[in-house]
Amino acid sequence: MSARSSLQNLSVHEELLRPMSQNEIDAMHHVSSTISYFVTGPDHPAMQQAMRLGLEAGASMNWLTTYFHTGILFSAKGHYLSHASVAEAHAELGGCERVRLGSAPGEDYDKCPGCQGQNHSEARSIQRAREAGHEAELRGSTFIFAGHFWCCEPCTQAMEDAGVARVVLMEGAAALFDKSREGAVLDPADPQRLRLWFESQLLVSV
Ligand SMILES: [Zn+2]
Ligand SMILES: [Zn+2]
Repeated sequence: MSARSSLQNLSVHEELLRPMSQNEIDAMHHVSSTISYFVTGPDHPAMQQAMRLGLEAGASMNWLTTYFHTGILFSAKGHYLSHASVAEAHAELGGCERVRLGSAPGEDYDKCPGCQGQNHSEARSIQRAREAGHEAELRGSTFIFAGHFWCCEPCTQAMEDAGVARVVLMEGAAALFDKSREGAVLDPADPQRLRLWFESQLLVSV
C-alpha cells in the first residue's frame, strides 16, 4: 500500500500516547503554554505513515537534506486533516543552505528559503488543512511529528493561532533527532543515517 492511499484511514490512537515527562519537555528548545506535549513509539500507525512520507520527501531531494521530518495533523475527533514535510519546500527550491553551512538547531533560518517558518512541517500542514476547508477542525487538533525533537517559535505560534492542542513526538526524540547530540540519527553530514533509521523502524505489515 502506498504512503498516501491509507492516510484517510489513520487516526490518533489515544491509547498509544503518553504525556511527556518534564525532562522530555526540557529537551525541547521551545514550548507553548497552550499546547500539551506527548510522545509515542515508532510503531504508532501515524508515525509509521509520517516516516514513509518523510522517506518519499527525502527521496525527492536525492537525500541532499536531513530535513525530511514529516508531520500529520488530526482533528479533535482524531481524523486525518493534512500532512507536510519541510523537504518538499527544499525540493522546490533546490536544496538547503543550512545543511550546506552546517547550521546548529534553530540557527540561520534566515539563510535558507526552504527553512523559513512557513515551510516547516507544522506551518505547511496547517496551511494545507485550511486550503482543504478544515479551518474549524484545526481547533483541538493533534500534530504527530516524526524526525524532529521540538517545534520552533514561528511554528508554535502558528499552531497556537490555529488552535492545535497537542504535539506528539517520537519516543526518545531528542536523543534521536537533536543533531548536536552524540549518536543522534539526524546527522547533517550524513542524511543516510536518518533515512536508514526510518527504514529500520517500518513495520512490514502496515
Ligand atoms: Zn533549509
Ligand atoms: Zn518550525
